[in-house]
Amino acid sequence: MTITDSHCHLDHEKFAADFDAVLERAADAGVNRILCIGTGDGPPELDRAIRLAERHERILATVGVHPHEAAKVTPETYAALRELGKHEKVVAFGEIGLDYHYDFSPREVQRAVFIEQLQIARELALPITLHIREAWDDTMAILTEHWSGPGIVHCFTGDAAQARQALGMGFHLAFGGVVTFKTGETVRDAARITPDDRLLLETDAPFLAPIPYRGKRCEPAMMVETLNKLAEVRGTTPEHVAGITNANFERLCLQPRIQTRYTGVSDGN
Ligand SMILES: [Zn+2]
Ligand SMILES: [Zn+2]
Repeated sequence: MTITDSHCHLDHEKFAADFDAVLERAADAGVNRILCIGTGDGPPELDRAIRLAERHERILATVGVHPHEAAKVTPETYAALRELGKHEKVVAFGEIGLDYHYDFSPREVQRAVFIEQLQIARELALPITLHIREAWDDTMAILTEHWSGPGIVHCFTGDAAQARQALGMGFHLAFGGVVTFKTGETVRDAARITPDDRLLLETDAPFLAPIPYRGKRCEPAMMVETLNKLAEVRGTTPEHVAGITNANFERLCLQPRIQTRYTGVSDGN
């Protein structure tokens, strides 16, 4: 069985001491493809995931500026993202979006940086991976106006109505450790109604470890717990969920970059 972790932060300092062992445990658990998010601590360092992907065959990368770091963006940041985004192992753009929970960057700056990055993602013909926290309506409004390409709502923690809204806009939903939490009933409802061809798995490691590891450092090998719970919730087998989530990831992120994926949006020229 091959499992794809569609979102994790292996560049995090918490993996510095035992990185190789973490990758080995992932492989032992069947997690053989890992999309590393390249946001790091924000600009000017934007290539952390690319550097990992260059060293490890099973690792793929994203580039982007997390909403937390939006206030660090300069014109040079956008130029760097446009260049780094062409790297052959970059298969998605993000994580980008809005985070009104922490408000580490002013909201109007978050929105402006988000909109600019949607433009860059479109130029690069990359799918986006979205971070949305306590900012659902604003995010959806911006996407409606500025995006019509493919993408992932990462760490989906909304309810069934929000799931339907995002699915209706063409997005994939990635479910992580939260589906195993006792308090995760709402998210499990959303996972239940997500069609087979829109479902993805993720860990968001080192964050959000699934039960029974909750509170510990999360790592990709732990995704087996999330996979098993998702299979149970959907009334199917872990093998089936692993198979469809792999296929979805391949269709979404591993296709050649063709501008025709992006229909209905002017190129701004
Ligand atoms: Zn996130
Ligand atoms: Zn993340």
